[in-house]
Amino acid sequence: MRDRRKITVQGVVQGVGFRPFVYGLASRLGLDGSVRNGTTGVVIDVEGDPTCVENFLRALVAEAPPLARIERVSAEKQPLRHYTAFAIEPSEARDDMGVFVAPDVATCPECLSEFNGAHERRYRYPFLNCTNCGPRFTIVSGVPYDRERTTMAGFSMCIACQAEYVDPRDRRFHAQPTACPRCGPRLWVADSQGNEIPVDDSRTFIGVRLQEGKIVAVKGLGGYHLSCDALRNDVVRELRRRKQREAKPLAVMVQNLDMAQRLCAVSAVEAELITSARRPIVLLRKHPDCPIAGEVAPQNGYLGVMLPYTPLHHLLLQQAARPLVMTSGNMTEEPIAYQDDDAVRRLAGIADYSSNCDIWQPPEIHAMVLSKMELRELAAFHFRGYEVISQEGNTWVCGGEG
Ligand SMILES: [Zn+2]
Ligand SMILES: [Zn+2]
Repeated sequence: MRDRRKITVQGVVQGVGFRPFVYGLASRLGLDGSVRNGTTGVVIDVEGDPTCVENFLRALVAEAPPLARIERVSAEKQPLRHYTAFAIEPSEARDDMGVFVAPDVATCPECLSEFNGAHERRYRYPFLNCTNCGPRFTIVSGVPYDRERTTMAGFSMCIACQAEYVDPRDRRFHAQPTACPRCGPRLWVADSQGNEIPVDDSRTFIGVRLQEGKIVAVKGLGGYHLSCDALRNDVVRELRRRKQREAKPLAVMVQNLDMAQRLCAVSAVEAELITSARRPIVLLRKHPDCPIAGEVAPQNGYLGVMLPYTPLHHLLLQQAARPLVMTSGNMTEEPIAYQDDDAVRRLAGIADYSSNCDIWQPPEIHAMVLSKMELRELAAFHFRGYEVISQEGNTWVCGGEG
């Protein structure tokens, strides 16, 4: 006896590894059918032993990938089709925003160890990512979430990346922004006028400039940030002067939790928060001997601290080997700089160098759609500069910082 159901899953289910998860689950339970991203959620057509179909439905929610936020599941009984295999099908392509694309997710532990592994083909590659981590919202140009509707569309995968992408056992199975040094975006360095500087190794170059006390504009998720040595008062004072930001406290990025604990007191709750996938800036009480330059947060017992959330951040912190100030790439009161020309013009008087890549786009173009739960996190903790700009029912729309 067999049973067939058409299941629709709604919520934050695209860009979180949901289709590979469904594929794995169906294979485990010996079920046939298909899964695809639809314009209203993930659509699953599943057929097989009735008990297994029931178990499938239960596991779909209970074992969902950690980044998924399921808000609704509907299942309809259907006449049998006698499928003989389970497949991931192409998405329905329609340009409507009836679906949530996940926010960007901090580099996962597997990617980080690959990043640090000297024999890995993505060793120190600043744009590595996988199904469990990486950019989502900042590279999406439409829904459903597929590579062709991301800013990665212009980069064709090499043979090695393609092999991972089609392998259901690989953690990059259907990871849309997957990339490597051979086929993905590259990191390049520009001078203060936006002209590319030929350098042997852009990664080392930027680290050394930061050590020398230079101010570097870093193009990352959602636009440019300005970065400099957080231990030197003269450097931070110069950043303030150029940015015309007189006294407001600046946030600091440190390599890991251990470093945060050396600078500040970190409670268990704060530790959990600061290491969470959303990587919020957490306000921590400075230790009396905290070596961070007083200019970072003048007359303030607290320090806004965050951990790296992209491989590029990990790279900067490793290369610079010191805590770095991270602040939005704009003059106070101006919107965050994002387009290259615009950024060059506005950052010209502020940054000595900039590190660039060819993919990210600004959050202003595509508002971020968050679920209720994420909103609660957002409301409680300033979320990398995003702010709620409108609310409709259960949906909150957030834009970049002003
Ligand atoms: Zn990862
Ligand atoms: Zn590749």
